[in-house]
Amino acid sequence: MNDATHSRLVLVTGAGTGIGRATARAFAAEGATVVVVGRRAEPLAETAEGHPGITPLTADVTGAGEPARIIDAVLAAHGRLDVLVNNAGVAGGTPLADVSEETIRTQLATNVVAPTLLAKAALGALAEGPGVIVNVSTPIGLRGWSGNSVYGATKAALDSLTRSWAVELAPRGIRVVAVAPGAIATPIADHMGLSRERQAALRKWQLAHTPLGRVGRPEDVAAAVVRLADPAASAFVTGVVLPVDGGAAVA
Ligand code: NAD
Repeated sequence: MNDATHSRLVLVTGAGTGIGRATARAFAAEGATVVVVGRRAEPLAETAEGHPGITPLTADVTGAGEPARIIDAVLAAHGRLDVLVNNAGVAGGTPLADVSEETIRTQLATNVVAPTLLAKAALGALAEGPGVIVNVSTPIGLRGWSGNSVYGATKAALDSLTRSWAVELAPRGIRVVAVAPGAIATPIADHMGLSRERQAALRKWQLAHTPLGRVGRPEDVAAAVVRLADPAASAFVTGVVLPVDGGAAVA
């Protein structure tokens, strides 16, 4: 068992932008030591700027052998890992008729394979815990999503992994949870390559279907992740996929 007086060691993937950046900063604000992973050094450095508890680690989570290398690097530098936040993700909306094999493979590699290999590599350290895995999903897993079926399927898979790992890893003292953000103001639509017109139409639709009547902030999701990972706040919570969506999932 780790010494509880140590600050917790948190690893956040995809932390150069959006929800990952806000999550890294929220953990750091609570006194955690945070390693942030992303493909480009510059956005990671921006995430860390002014937050001495945050250390960047440049890596592509889909690279061959990279998940194990990332976990090894964290353990070599810090000797522990308490929270793994599988946040890196790619979305890309195309109807089935137009979807490319490359899109399918990239989304599966980023949204399903990488979180699985990271979780696998982290198991030993998380079991020293109490360790937590937080997967960043989307509320679409239970419904159909016209024009975005592959992304929806990868997040449905992540929800399923969350539930299965929660049961499988409970005997090792590892909790596994997920958040399912609704419409959140991040650069994700730019990363999807959506035109300004399509982004505006999507926002209009999302606002009309969000009972709280606003788009979420990355900090809204970060706060939920920090609470779910907190052993004091959530010690008896595992296997849950928590919507953070202004009520969209129930509207
Ligand atoms: P984002 O595009 O800003 O964040 C995703 C991050 O993951 C980016 O920094 C990207 O560079 C990184 N990433 C992608 N592939 C990677 C790889 N191979 N290796 C390392 N890093 C990689 O968008 P976001 O909204 O902050 O998304 C964060 C998570 O939230 C994603 O999993 C996304 O699916 C999920 N999500 C977002 C929303 C939303 O409305 N913004 C809604 C539901 C779910």
